Amino acid sequence: MIPFNKPCQTGRESSHISAALASGKLSGDGEYTARCSAWLEERFSCAKALLTTSCTSALEMAALLAGISPGDEVIMPSFTFVSTANAFVLRGAKIVFVDIDPLTMNIDPACIEQAITPKTRAIVPVHYAGVACDMDALSALARTHNLIIIEDAAQGVMGYKNGQALGTFGTFGCYSFHETKNYVMGEGGALLINDHSFVERAEIIREKGTNRSRFFRGQVDKYTWVDTGSSYLPSELNAACLWPQLEDAEAINAARLEIWDRYYGAFETLAASGRIQIPHVPEGCAHNAHMFWIKLRDLADRTAFIEHMKQHGIATPFHYVPLHSSPAGLRFGEFRGEDRHTTSGSDRLVRLPLWYGMAASETTQITAEATSYLQN
Ligand SMILES: *Cc1c(COP(=O)(O)O)cnc(C)c1O
Repeated sequence: MIPFNKPCQTGRESSHISAALASGKLSGDGEYTARCSAWLEERFSCAKALLTTSCTSALEMAALLAGISPGDEVIMPSFTFVSTANAFVLRGAKIVFVDIDPLTMNIDPACIEQAITPKTRAIVPVHYAGVACDMDALSALARTHNLIIIEDAAQGVMGYKNGQALGTFGTFGCYSFHETKNYVMGEGGALLINDHSFVERAEIIREKGTNRSRFFRGQVDKYTWVDTGSSYLPSELNAACLWPQLEDAEAINAARLEIWDRYYGAFETLAASGRIQIPHVPEGCAHNAHMFWIKLRDLADRTAFIEHMKQHGIATPFHYVPLHSSPAGLRFGEFRGEDRHTTSGSDRLVRLPLWYGMAASETTQITAEATSYLQN
C-alpha cells in the first residue's frame, strides 16, 4: 500500500534527540528550542517565534492574546480543521463561517464584508495546502473595520506571498509541526508574533502565567504568577527532532515541490479538459507543496475514485467535513452568506500521497492509476 503520508525524517533526528537526552535538560526552552525559534525568527523575519506544543496551542495563545471574549465574533472559512474554530470557542466567541474561493479552497475576501457586524473582532485566514490567502484584500478589510488577523498557517511553513512568509502578515501566525505537516516534531507548532507589544504577555501565557522567561534573562530576581496562562511549551526532545529538519528546510521544500510539479504536469491536460480541477497558485505565491489535491465531478465520482485507487494499493483520503454542518459547528457558529463552494468542494476533493523522500516510481504509479480511472 502507498500511504498518504510518511513523517519527514532527515536521518539525523535520533542523534539530536540523544544529545538532548544526554544534556539532562528535557523540559522546554533549552538549547534546541532556542535554536529552532532563532531559525524561525531569522528565516521568516518575525518579531518573535515561540515553539508550542501544537498549532492548536498556538491558536489558543493567539485567541488569549487578542483578548477574544464571550459575545465576540470571529470570521473564518468552514473548510478547515476543528482547531481553527475551537481556539476561539474556548474564549466564548461565536464563529462566523464564510465561503471559500474554489480555485484555492482559501477564504474568499469578497464574502467577508457582509459577514462583519459591530461584534466582529478577528479574521482567521487558513492558508490551505500552503497556498497563500489573498492577504492584500484581507489586510485592507482588517484595517477598514479595525479587526485583528490571526493566520492559521499550520500548512504554510516555507510558503510565501510576494516574498513575505506566511504567518507574518497577521498580528499572529500559527504553524504546525505535526507529523502530517512538512516539518515535524511529533506534536508541536509555533506562534509567530508580528507585533512586539504582545511578546512579553505571550511568554507569560506560554509559561503557566508566570514571568519565568524574564527571570531566566535576569530581568527579574524571582519568578511568580502574574497573569492567566497554561503550559504551551514543548519538550527539548521534540525541538531536537525538529532542528535537523529546519537545517534542511530548503532541500525538503525543493523535494516536495518536485513531486507536486510532477503531479501538476500529469493532470494538467485532464484539468484543462474540465474532467477534474487541480490547485491554482495565484500570482506572487510561492507555495510549499504541502498538498496536491484533485476535485472530482461529485461525491459519487470521488467515492469511485477513492475505491479505484484503494484497489490499486494507493491511499487518497478526502479532507475536511465543513465545520458549519458539524454538531459543534451548529452549536458554536453559523454560516453567513451563501455556501456556493464549501460543501460542494469538500464533497469532491481528494488528496494524493506526498511526502519527503517519495520515490519517482511511486508518483508514476499514482498518476498512472489516477489517469486510468479519470479517462474511463
Ligand atoms: C494541522 C492543522 C491544525 C492543527 O495542527 P496541530 O499542530 O495538530 O495542532 C490546525 N489548522 C490547520 C489548517 C491544520 O492543517
